[in-house]
Amino acid sequence: MTDIFDKKKRSEIMSSVKSKDTQPELIVRRILRSMGYGYRLHRKDLPGTPDIVLTKYKKVIFVHGCFWHGHEGCSRAKLPQTNRKFWQEKIEKNILRDQKAFQDLRSLGWTSLIIWTCEIRDEEKLKEKITNFLLEDRIGRNDY
Ligand SMILES: [Zn+2]
Repeated sequence: MTDIFDKKKRSEIMSSVKSKDTQPELIVRRILRSMGYGYRLHRKDLPGTPDIVLTKYKKVIFVHGCFWHGHEGCSRAKLPQTNRKFWQEKIEKNILRDQKAFQDLRSLGWTSLIIWTCEIRDEEKLKEKITNFLLEDRIGRNDY
């Protein structure tokens, strides 16, 4: 099928899903380091190959591109006008794959957090989200 995006735009979009060590991921990793958390990356032995794995806490973080993973209600997740059906099916498939990975992780005793690329802008809020996620069990709160 003909590509609706020019080369530059295409590589921009693809880079947010295919490649490891994307800019948003690096920012999340920097924040974790600055808070003193150790982590491992891209553990292939876990469902969904989580981007960041906090083994000690049995928690994983996925850094998700809003478009590719269908961030609900997010302006960055808006489908292009052309080839809508094609994109919709593609993204729905990604969402299903993500949900399956979270379920599989949960059944293995792991808790997952999604950080959306649109959340990267506000570092203070991001820090808060990560902290809440990592402290969740210890303070017995699960309502985030
Ligand atoms: Zn978003």
